[in-house]
This record gives sequence, structure tokens and C-alpha cells, in this order.
Amino acid sequence: MRPFVYERTNSPDAAIAAFDDVRATAFLAGGTTLIDLMKLDVLRPERVVDINTMGLDRIEVGDSGARLGASVRMADAETHPELRRRVPMLSESLALAASTQIRHMATLAGNVLQRTRCPYFRDVSWAACNKRSPGSGCAAMKGFNRSHAVLGTSDACIATYPGDFGQALIALDAVVDVVGSGGRRRIPFAALHVAPERTPEVETKLAPDDLILGFEVPVEPWFRRSLYLKIRDRESYEFALAAAAVALDLDGGMVRQARIALGGLATVPWRAHEAERALVGRTLDEANCQLAAEAALSGARPRQHNEFKVELGRQTIVRALLQAAAMEV
Ligand SMILES: Cc1cc2nc3c(=O)[nH]c(=O)nc-3n(C[C@H](O)[C@H](O)[C@H](O)COP(=O)(O)OP(=O)(O)OC[C@H]3O[C@@H](n4cnc5c(N)ncnc54)[C@H](O)[C@@H]3O)c2cc1C
Ligand code: SF4
Repeated sequence: MRPFVYERTNSPDAAIAAFDDVRATAFLAGGTTLIDLMKLDVLRPERVVDINTMGLDRIEVGDSGARLGASVRMADAETHPELRRRVPMLSESLALAASTQIRHMATLAGNVLQRTRCPYFRDVSWAACNKRSPGSGCAAMKGFNRSHAVLGTSDACIATYPGDFGQALIALDAVVDVVGSGGRRRIPFAALHVAPERTPEVETKLAPDDLILGFEVPVEPWFRRSLYLKIRDRESYEFALAAAAVALDLDGGMVRQARIALGGLATVPWRAHEAERALVGRTLDEANCQLAAEAALSGARPRQHNEFKVELGRQTIVRALLQAAAMEV
């Protein structure tokens, strides 16, 4: 591992001021992604700024929304009783992510900003990775791409966005509270991540010194009928092959509103607007769920080893919708 300078700061202003033009700098939260990738020599910050002691670890739940601090541990948000009761999708997206040990260490902001698990990105012995070395090519295109994305891909990169919590945030229309040398601003979560297109090395709209302070999550009464369904190779802990975050507002058997987001299938957190539109005003039966699932995957572009994800994605959506419809709320 390369040597680096470690600093701890107690305020957002001090953390932002630690960035300068001389040393490549990174914020350190739980470290479960950052330190991992530093050990693999994929990330090479010369200075890390520890942001764990600046009071960004509070959860506040009001009548119409919740505010989750950036440094809240995944395990603390997952087990919060009010969130569990009023937005099961949110708690489940965290409970099904990583392992118990990691969830006690890892933070919400770190989770949202975690990097892809593409094996060619994580192994520097592969020269071709446009995300790691812009312009070098993409080893996954003709390599083993079973875990890669089928939605939001480009000819430069097909890496899957690996997070689960981000799917709940995009489904719930959450907003990100950010501060940096450019000032403080609120970014819709849906606009935070950027699809790869020709510049896969650019993953978000954040500047290097932008610090996430927290997440504002609207909480509607109908979010009680919500869930996160995750399909993976093993149940103990594993990233999603396909996942669906679903919330339903039902009037009898008819859909008034629906929220659907997809994990494991896309290059960024993915909201399936076409599928939502296909359900509104319809009865929530299997045939209509199937129509919605077809709409969600209609733009899929599979590669050699991940064709199965298209049908798996459809089945995951149908199952999640039918399970949500059957919930007693
Ligand atoms: C074995 C294993 C299995 C996993 N399985 C899953 C899974 O199934 N689902 C899933 O969703 N995740 C999974 N993860 C990923 C894990 O959830 C993330 O590593 C973790 O959430 C990152 O949080 P952290 O606090 O440790 O972030 P860090 O590693 O500290 O930081 C990650 C990135 O975020 C930046 N950052 C952190 N906080 C801020 C902030 N406030 N403002 C700006 N930038 C910030 C850091 O600079 C860094 O670039 C897994 C990880 C491992 C190791
Ligand atoms: S899919 Fe993206 S991250 Fe993976 S090798 Fe290709 S460019 Fe790199």
C-alpha cells in the first residue's frame, strides 16, 4: 500500500479546506470501499481526511420526511424502528446489503458513492479499463461480463452500479444535501450519478471537495406498502444480480401511483419510469405486472454472458410488485 497522510477534522469547513492542488485528497468515512481500493492500488489518494467526528450521524424522522446524516452507519438506519415501519423499502435495501460487520462500519454517504465491483476495474494488472485509465479501452466488453449492466451502458463502459440503498433513494425521490468550496446545494438523488457514455471515469456530479452532509427522504403514508427484493448468487452476503425497490399506492386493486427502481442491472441507480407509467390506472394483476416489467427492460443491451439478466430483471419486478400488493399495511 502506498504511504498517505491521515487527517481528522471536526467540521465540514475544515474538511473542505483540507483539499488543495498539491495532494490528491479523499474523504474517509467507514473506509470499506476507499481503503479496500487503496490496498488494491486502484485509488491512490496522497491524503485522506477522516470525516467521522463532525456530527453527521443523526437520523431525524418527521411527519412528512426523514433526514439521514451522511455518516449514519448502515446498520443504524436499517434498524431504526420508524423507518422500518413507514418505509420498509429503505430498511430492507440496507439490511440486504453487504455483511453485518460491514454495515456496522460503513456509512450512508460512503454506500451511495461506492465504486463498481467490475473485476477489471479492481485489478490493476488489466491495462484496459476506461474508468480507471481513461482512453485505455474496456476489458469487460470481450471478457467475462456476467455481472455487468444491461441498462445505461455505453461503448466505453458496462460496469454495474453495485449499491442497494441508492435504489431506495431514487425510488423515493430523495435529495442530497452537499457542501463544497462552491457552496451548499441540494441535488435530487436522481441527478447525482452520471451514466458512463464516453467518460466512465466521471461517476457523479460532485466536485472532489464536495462533502455530502445528508439525505432528505420524503415519507408518504403509502410508502408503508414498499419493499426491496434482491436476487443474488448467495444469501449470506453478495451484490445484486437483479433487484427491485417497489412502492405501491393502491385504490382497491387499482394502482394510483407506483415507484420502481432497479438494482444490479444498470450502470447507475435506475428508476423505471416507463414501468411506473404502465401500471398507473390499471389493476395490479400478473399480466399488468408483466407489461410493466417488459417496459422496464425494453432498452436493455445485454452482452455475451449477461443475457440472463434481462429475463431475471423482468421476473424480479413482477415478483416484487405482487409481493408489495399482498402486504398488509
Ligand atoms: C464484501 C463486501 C460486500 C458488499 N456488499 C454490498 C452489497 O451487497 N450492497 C451494497 O450496497 N454494498 C455492498 N458493499 C459495499 C459497502 O456497502 C460499501 O463499501 C460501504 O457502504 C461504503 O461506505 P464507507 O462508509 O465505508 O465508505 P468509504 O469507503 O469511507 O468511502 C467510499 C467513498 O465515498 C466517499 N465519501 C464517503 N463519505 C462521503 C461524504 N460524506 N461526502 C463525500 N464523499 C464521501 C469517499 O471519499 C470514498 O470515495 C460491500 C462491501 C464489501 C467489502
Ligand atoms: S466495464 Fe467499465 S469498469 Fe469494467 S473494465 Fe470496462 S471500463 Fe472498466
